[in-house]
Amino acid sequence: MAALRFLLLVAIWFSSLAKLIAEKPFDFASTPGKLPKHVIPQEYAIRITPDLKKLTFLGSETVKLDVREAVRELVLNALVLQITSAALDDKPLPNSALKVDPKEETLKISLPEEISRGDHTLALSFTGKINQQGQGLFYARYQEHGSGAQKLMLGTQFEATDARRMFPCWDEPSFRARFQLTAVVPENFLAVSNMLVERESKVDGGKEVRFAMTPSMASYLNVFVAGELDLIEGKSGDTQIRVIATRNKAEMGRYALQATAQILQYYNDYFGVAYPLPKLDQIATPGGFGGAMENWGGITYYESVLLFDPKTSSDATRQRIYEVVAHEMAHQWFGDLVTMAWWDNLWLNEGFASWMGSKCTAHFNPQWEVWLQKDMPRDPTRRVGIPKETAMEGDALSTTHPIQQKISNEAEANSAFDDITYKKGQSFIRMLESFLGEDVFREGIRQYIAQHKYSNSTTADLWSALSNSSGKPVAEIAAGWTEQPGFPVVTVARKDGGKVALKQERFTIHYPNAPALQWKIPLTYSIVGKPAASLLMTDTTAELSDVPMERAVKLNVEGAGNYRVQYDEASWQLLLGELAKLSVPDRVNLLSDSWAFVQANRAPLFTYFELIKKLPATAELAERQQIINAFDYINRLVIGSEQRASFQNYARSILRPSFDQLGWEPRSNEPPRSATLRVDLINVLGDFNDQEIITGCRQRFQKFLADPASLAPDLRPAVFNVVSHHADEATWMKLHELGRKTTSMEEKQNYYDALTRATDPKLAKRALQIALTGELPTSRALYMVSSVARYSEHPDIAWQFAKAHMKELLAKADALGVNRYAPSLFLFFSDPIRIEELRAYAKGNLPPGNAKAVAQAIDEIEFRSEFKQQLLPQLAAWIKKKDSISAAPSPAASTDSAPDR
Ligand SMILES: [Zn+2]
Repeated sequence: MAALRFLLLVAIWFSSLAKLIAEKPFDFASTPGKLPKHVIPQEYAIRITPDLKKLTFLGSETVKLDVREAVRELVLNALVLQITSAALDDKPLPNSALKVDPKEETLKISLPEEISRGDHTLALSFTGKINQQGQGLFYARYQEHGSGAQKLMLGTQFEATDARRMFPCWDEPSFRARFQLTAVVPENFLAVSNMLVERESKVDGGKEVRFAMTPSMASYLNVFVAGELDLIEGKSGDTQIRVIATRNKAEMGRYALQATAQILQYYNDYFGVAYPLPKLDQIATPGGFGGAMENWGGITYYESVLLFDPKTSSDATRQRIYEVVAHEMAHQWFGDLVTMAWWDNLWLNEGFASWMGSKCTAHFNPQWEVWLQKDMPRDPTRRVGIPKETAMEGDALSTTHPIQQKISNEAEANSAFDDITYKKGQSFIRMLESFLGEDVFREGIRQYIAQHKYSNSTTADLWSALSNSSGKPVAEIAAGWTEQPGFPVVTVARKDGGKVALKQERFTIHYPNAPALQWKIPLTYSIVGKPAASLLMTDTTAELSDVPMERAVKLNVEGAGNYRVQYDEASWQLLLGELAKLSVPDRVNLLSDSWAFVQANRAPLFTYFELIKKLPATAELAERQQIINAFDYINRLVIGSEQRASFQNYARSILRPSFDQLGWEPRSNEPPRSATLRVDLINVLGDFNDQEIITGCRQRFQKFLADPASLAPDLRPAVFNVVSHHADEATWMKLHELGRKTTSMEEKQNYYDALTRATDPKLAKRALQIALTGELPTSRALYMVSSVARYSEHPDIAWQFAKAHMKELLAKADALGVNRYAPSLFLFFSDPIRIEELRAYAKGNLPPGNAKAVAQAIDEIEFRSEFKQQLLPQLAAWIKKKDSISAAPSPAASTDSAPDR
């Protein structure tokens, strides 16, 4: 795609489209936020003494302030902290001067008299809590690898607004300051923070570790981790790089260390500003939170997205680690060195890091087909799913929002971490890069970083740098994509004389009367077999000319654009006739669009199935994955319907030949995508009751029990899943025992994920009970319930359980989870009766921060309900039409039925 040349119709850029560009370049004084802007922290010196028995800590800090206007009050953030003393410029302040407001999450300090402009020093002492969930300072209990001993370690998670739980601070991203941390920890602990240790000394009850002062940065980027840890280290240029993990696990960081060295060099070059800190630590924690966090100089990861054991880890894990590491490292520049001014521009951090991480991963690992099929970092449990598609599905609904959205409080800041921010952001940046050209785009990024380093920025600043480098009005093109919700569908109609008429309109799903919107679309197209061409579609209509009547034309080349294309019958038939000549990305794009049109009720299911039938018979990973995703969706939607068995029969007839091409055993020299596809097919065929696959998994599981080396690491998760899906009690117990015993978080995850897949209601209930125990880290414990809701086929059992134990469950949720956990459990219902139930539950039980997630869940239930009504008769008609399929025995009815082929 990088080679595509765009024919730019500059003249019409300046016409049409209402002016959307409302945003201004970064300006501290007018940046949104709660804290007054005339008192600015310059330097913090913070001292923390954790009490590992009581799970509390003692803290103190001095903050050098730049007071820019005479004031009688200081306002900063604090949450769940007890302030025990305060002084300004060494003069103690009475307790009555301190007012903590838990609702506003602020600490207000009334001063006895007005203080003048200039430098002042605030000193505070305080106590706080070490949390079970990954918010603020948290603890994680784990079994030590090798010894099996029960241990405890400390970690922090501050984004978006939880630094204020560890120390009072100006906890908004534009209040950059320098931070110097000192911590008292047991002598056998290794303590890690953003910077290197400056001094270590023995004190009562352990040792005092003083870290060097950070450069100017946002408060949410602080990090502190301490425990019985090991490390491996290396160098990349002048930067010390380390992987840190709990004892006896650091060597599993070898792969991540090598990746870090490679990625650091790539980014040093790409951004044109070398990584500015003396060291970069990659820290694996066995709990606290899922995913990863880009703290400057000390990135934290849930263990299974950083550690790789060549003996037991799968290739999917290797890919995920590379991609997550590349994403978090991109943040060291985009996010840390330059930080979004306010949370309404979170996409600047996340959309960009997602794109950059993928670009870097694809550069060094072309064999992974990164842009076609890959996972995204936030949720390490997602294995399948094409990110752009996930975002486009949500973006078509009424509950979507613009990439840039107004954020007025902490709960909204935490809710901003969603698919639109990450994936639509990434997808738009990719479209823009291919539009401006790779070199021009990079030049703009270099200018942007150079101009805003150690400072903050808005989206307007990024567009301004890209406009400079490209000479094109980037802000004007971008506005439609970042400042309004949704995206367009372009319809294609063949006309006489080699003309093709194009029209754009908003694409929606289950959203009648959606406001009409318009975009400037960087369109790409090719007359099949010829080089790609492009045009900037600035109006509602456009026209292609000189397209020979007998030739097919494909728009959105390789699916790199964030829009859909719907063809008229003549164009569609021509494309179907030339499918074999299209690239795999182009065919995947046709599949994705067709499936979306079925969901949007713009095309019958029949069209999608016909397209599948006409695909070339090779087992291409991305094509099959698209089909697997759609079939999996249908299969879950029609649970309990009479069409389900016949549908599964049909689905097997499509997918089984791909599996037979690949076989059970990994072949030497097969491309990595074969391994990925094999695993996906085993999973889905197991769900679709393919008896040969189920038997094959059971046999392999038995062999594995006797000889673990007999089962390739790549196959393990799928084999465990299928075995558990159809498990009896004894088998399920065996899986549980294996999960309990292992000290590898990746293996643990494989076993416990499998446990949630049991369809036997008794076993599903047992899987749910695990969420209340201490067997799993908090984020994984919560996921047990979501996963039962999704995979066990009993979302009702999962919800009943969650409702009865909501308080205990929410106590394990981190800042991002707490506002969406309960509503997320409704996403698998398709009965409208659940809508009222959710509304009533939310009203009586959930804080207002859940409102957005509740609305999204209601939207989804309504959609699923309607979609089901629309799909069932179409499925019935399709099945009737397929004589051979409808004549086959129903495998779901009898577990002994012959394998279907
Ligand atoms: Zn990120």
